[in-house]
Amino acid sequence: MQTVNKNFINEKKIEEDLAVNKNPESRRVKDILTKALSIETLEPDETAALLNVEDKNLWEEIFEVAGKIKKKVYDNRIVTFAPLYCSNLCVNSCLYCAFRKENTEGIRRRLSLEEVEKETEVLISFGHKRLIVVYGEHPLTNIDYISDTIKTIYKTKVGANKIRRVNVNAAPMSVEELKLLKQVGIGTYQVFQETYHRETYRKVHPKGLKSDYKRRLYALHKAMDAGIDDVGIGALFGLYDWRFEVMGLLEHSRELERSFGIGPHTISFPRLEPAMNTPFVQQAEHKVSDEDFKKLIAVLRLSVPYTGMILTAREPAHIRRKVLPLGCTQTDASSRIGIGAYSRKYNKQEAEKQQFLLGDTRTLDEVIREFASDGYITSFCTAGYRCGRTGKCIMQLLKTGEEGKFCKLNAVLTFREWLDDFASEQTKEAGEKVIKKEIEELKEQLPDTYPQFEKFYQRIKNGERDFYF
Ligand code: SAM
Ligand code: SF4
Repeated sequence: MQTVNKNFINEKKIEEDLAVNKNPESRRVKDILTKALSIETLEPDETAALLNVEDKNLWEEIFEVAGKIKKKVYDNRIVTFAPLYCSNLCVNSCLYCAFRKENTEGIRRRLSLEEVEKETEVLISFGHKRLIVVYGEHPLTNIDYISDTIKTIYKTKVGANKIRRVNVNAAPMSVEELKLLKQVGIGTYQVFQETYHRETYRKVHPKGLKSDYKRRLYALHKAMDAGIDDVGIGALFGLYDWRFEVMGLLEHSRELERSFGIGPHTISFPRLEPAMNTPFVQQAEHKVSDEDFKKLIAVLRLSVPYTGMILTAREPAHIRRKVLPLGCTQTDASSRIGIGAYSRKYNKQEAEKQQFLLGDTRTLDEVIREFASDGYITSFCTAGYRCGRTGKCIMQLLKTGEEGKFCKLNAVLTFREWLDDFASEQTKEAGEKVIKKEIEELKEQLPDTYPQFEKFYQRIKNGERDFYF
């Protein structure tokens, strides 16, 4: 068990690092870029220097190197998933969220297990293989409810198709509760710190369980203690200065690496979005511009080069397209965040009563078509956690590029399945071109594994499913 008394977010040090690394010399920035390219986590003063770059040309270089790191570790793969909001009941008072206790607008409820099954069926029928389940914090959505919903999702089938990985975004829990989560077979457990700046944290979480900064800061240490070694961190950008939050995310990653030998499996960087009856959002002083959003994504990519980076449908399509090449590895598609919104008729008015408003409501098919025409392959691979390539093991594999081999093979196999089972004609056409190119590369890069790959590929083409390396 790790001590929870020490404090790994040293605000004074973060502010000092940001202050003394102003307008760094071009030579130094280039050295930092070289270090990041060797897939090494950066030191705080190095990240601070990148955040302080003023020269436009240097930023262009940073963007370019961020793209190269993404390519080196994750190649042209994008993983897609969908969020499943199981409940909007919440005892907390987060000023930015429409689910806060004080918000009396909108209907509050949790899904029954039958409804979870219906929602899952719809998501399976879109072709999703990965979900993230989301809950408010409430006694009615305790660990028993969370476990039951996840078990229901894993049990649900539409024909031969099913969800193969369920990630969780929920409140901090005790080690005992987290052990139960592990038992039901979750993928990644995400808890966002929202803001690493204590004073801001206190202001935006004035009361309730979430007002305890430290409980949240150590939520993922507890998950590791419980044996969950795939954890996701995140900050809600717009609550405080974006440069400070990037430093906070870096410190959090370094702390996990130091304490457990494993950094975060993913980093999320949602931007604050308007939400029903939530005036705080309009008044927020630290909203992040599109230009700064690009910068923060690129610096995160460089600072924690091995981690997965999640871009969500909070962002509109044109922004997603612009920032994806800077290092994002996962994104959601066909998302709805109203409770029961996938299986019910859904209109604009209802959409406005969600936790926040989505910027991109395109279908999974549309999103995948755009990816394919931009040269990305959508991977539905969930093999990693099913064959124990998680935590320390996957981190090492990612750093050395080894994991990439499995991922490339599995990406093609799972994309083949998806194209045959779910794609529209137009998407299929774009997808076939990507698959063709990938297969050529596999033949060349992995001659020893290729014969086995080809066997699996043919069997999938003949209608069999779920082969992976
Ligand atoms: N209730 C759990 C918690 O707070 O950790 C998990 C679910 S919460 C619904 C998921 C995430 O949504 C939060 O961690 C927060 O970062 C994000 N969120 C809340 N309000 C938002 C808003 N107005 N715009 C964008 N993201 C928001
Ligand atoms: Fe509740 Fe999470 Fe929303 Fe806060 S962010 S009000 S904890 S659902």
